Amino acid sequence: MPEYINHINQYVLYAEEALKLQRLETAFHIYVYFLVFVIGAVCGSYINCVAWRYVHKEGSVHGRSHCATCGHELSFKDEVPILSYALLRGRCRYCGEKISPRYVIAEIVMGSAFTAVSVVGGLSLVTARNLPLLVLLMLVVLVYIDTHTAPGKFVAAGLVWWAIWIPFTGDKSTIIIRVAVTAVVAAVLGVIYAVLAAKKGKKGRTE
Ligand SMILES: [Zn+2]
Repeated sequence: MPEYINHINQYVLYAEEALKLQRLETAFHIYVYFLVFVIGAVCGSYINCVAWRYVHKEGSVHGRSHCATCGHELSFKDEVPILSYALLRGRCRYCGEKISPRYVIAEIVMGSAFTAVSVVGGLSLVTARNLPLLVLLMLVVLVYIDTHTAPGKFVAAGLVWWAIWIPFTGDKSTIIIRVAVTAVVAAVLGVIYAVLAAKKGKKGRTE
């Protein structure tokens, strides 16, 4: 057998190995992004509870969740993000009352947002910064939907978190610009918050 046939066979083997590795890598990526989606959905579920307790002034963030209608404590199988809602067809297992779709919507949105941020940012400091920011943003949105006021402490926490990462993310040469932008955003939000708080205070006095 001529020598070159051996070479060709060797190359074919290499190519097959490379293809196998590539498929494995793709499968691994899909698996990782699926995990990220699940983590996001769990966060979405948790944030909903935090927002609900914040709005209803229930102190402890810990302790078991309960049905908003009948007050029955929820077990683990009632709290699996998305799946529980789908399997129970959107109704409480104990009283049969409809569960607000905001829970499942928040879970799907957070799962998708976590995946999108991870796909765009990859395994990077920007992703490490953005995922907690997403959580805070969702928290602010959920509280805003219920109360029509932005919860100041969550907005402030988001800004502080953002500011902490300025030295570690992005181009070093633009650090001053980014500090300035953050300061301006913080100032504008502070003014908006103060105006809203003053308005609310006035309303409270006239009522
Ligand atoms: Zn119930």
